[in-house]
Amino acid sequence: MNAFEIENLECSYLEKGPAVVWIEKLGIPKGKLTVILGRSGSGKSTLLEALGLMNNTIREGRVTYHSPCRDENLAGIWHRYRKVAAIRKNRFSFIFQDDYLMPHYTNSENMLIARLIQGGMNPVPAGEMIDRLTGSLNLSGNGIRNKFPYQVAGGQRQRLSFARAMMKDFDILFGDEPTGNLDYKNSGRLIGYIKETIREKAATAIVVTHNIELSAEKADRIVMLSPCADKNRARFSIQPDHVFDRDGQDQWINYPEQDDLVAFIKNAI
Ligand code: ADP
Ligand code: MG
Repeated sequence: MNAFEIENLECSYLEKGPAVVWIEKLGIPKGKLTVILGRSGSGKSTLLEALGLMNNTIREGRVTYHSPCRDENLAGIWHRYRKVAAIRKNRFSFIFQDDYLMPHYTNSENMLIARLIQGGMNPVPAGEMIDRLTGSLNLSGNGIRNKFPYQVAGGQRQRLSFARAMMKDFDILFGDEPTGNLDYKNSGRLIGYIKETIREKAATAIVVTHNIELSAEKADRIVMLSPCADKNRARFSIQPDHVFDRDGQDQWINYPEQDDLVAFIKNAI
């Protein structure tokens, strides 16, 4: 079962010229962590923004979102602005490289804000969630909760914005380089936390990162953007042989040694 079904998709921020990304066919498996890899400028954000209804970058093709209530084609949905807003608010959650915390609210208020806007959808009580998140993200000390974002360190702000994304209820979690400002160990923790959370909630995660080793260690599926053979059509594409999955033993298909997959991807990017 797929959360998203992509067919003949062309996406770009610009209306004219070759598209940035072309994808003939791709599924994003439900309940799994899919990682998108590709060099800078290869359209990772363009694609993520199309799927997450952050920007209308879809020019051509079909993106079916199998939501818990019905299927929606995200191409051509943008004129239904209430629908777009409802899906983003009720079904999606987002983490970015920058924290986008609101400077005039305390860190606690920042953690609560997305959940407040969503309304009472998340069945787990807010207090319990804050306790759990601040505990496991190492945010419980030094009165961090009652301080303002500018009064805490960058790494702490990053984790606060991560906690904010986790506080609401969601079906799909989008991360655009969510570990971009973190060291390897903390990146691993954060991705581990994402995996645990989606398992608990039966949700799906789609994460863009530059960290190939971490992807090979933790992802369920890796999709890679690489230069498109048909330059008139698009600059980058996802070729079928640049989609990597694990087998029943949790090993990468065709790459029994994880390091070989890492080497292949490094070479192909
Ligand atoms: P990535 O996330 O892989 O680094 P992007 O999706 O941000 O790549 O960018 C893909 C291409 O789209 C780049 O050529 C970039 O210059 C262009 N681009 C990115 N953002 C915009 C924008 N807001 N308007 C127009 N072009 C953009
Ligand atoms: Mg980007």
